[in-house]
Amino acid sequence: GASMGIGGSERKSRNVTPSYMTFDDIGGQQRAKTELQEALDFLIRHDEIAKLGIRPLKGILLTGPPGTGKTLLAKAAAHYTNSIFMAASGSEFVEMYVGVGASRVRDLFKEARARAVKENKESAIVFIDEIDVIGGKRDGGQHREYDQTLNQLLTEMDGIHTTTTPRVLIMAATNRKEMLDSALLRPGRFDRHIEVDLPDKKGRLHILNIHAKNKPLADTVNLEQIAEETFHFSGAQLEGVMNEAAIYAMRQEAITIDQSHLSQAVDKVMLGEKTDRESTK
Ligand code: ATP
Repeated sequence: GASMGIGGSERKSRNVTPSYMTFDDIGGQQRAKTELQEALDFLIRHDEIAKLGIRPLKGILLTGPPGTGKTLLAKAAAHYTNSIFMAASGSEFVEMYVGVGASRVRDLFKEARARAVKENKESAIVFIDEIDVIGGKRDGGQHREYDQTLNQLLTEMDGIHTTTTPRVLIMAATNRKEMLDSALLRPGRFDRHIEVDLPDKKGRLHILNIHAKNKPLADTVNLEQIAEETFHFSGAQLEGVMNEAAIYAMRQEAITIDQSHLSQAVDKVMLGEKTDRESTK
């Protein structure tokens, strides 16, 4: 089946094992999925693109609030294009010593190419979460180390020749697009932006159904009502609701999850988020 369990630790690690995430495993986000697939067709149809003299696609930026499925979309993109998938987070490149971040960026791309060759793939997708950490606006020498890291990323992007294999596509995610250095957004760099918003009610129901697949729900459960009650919840929070509901069921030694378990779980996730927010104030 699909591997839905992308934990924090797995996202931190460089080598994410072959991805089986597909666009069907992602709830809602219909517009984002369509836009992304259209962009990815540029990678797939590289020969036609080259013949027509169209500038090849190098970078796709996913923007939107946390937990909405940006990482899932990047993984699905790798599956869709039959590419190897490498993930890193912007914060991994922040180091005390000058040059370390830049050399990590270099290594990341080197490794992506090497893995693609080894696994006999024509392309590699390098996903950088929290790109704003290294790609924030440059401010005249104050963050020299970050500058070198960002420069290295720009160098890598400029060096991508999409006529030679393995082709490399960079996907990046941020929830603070306005913070990004304009150098990153120039044509030929991250010039495709896809918004990944909080799901609407229909999207929430879709996501709830996806995360209900491996769980025993009582026949009386009305997920539509839960979708109604979870206004403003992210995909990650909805996954949390399904998981908490199962825990409530277990505590009551119930063999199925019923509506009351789900409602309690909604309250818990909602409250949990509130206290999180208050404690960071
Ligand atoms: P961040 O910006 O915090 O990295 P993100 O947008 O990359 O967040 P993901 O890592 O893709 O979010 O999602 C986290 C988890 O939340 C997923 O592993 C999945 O369980 C659940 N999830 C989020 N969005 C969706 C969705 N659209 N459909 C199904 N599950 C989702």
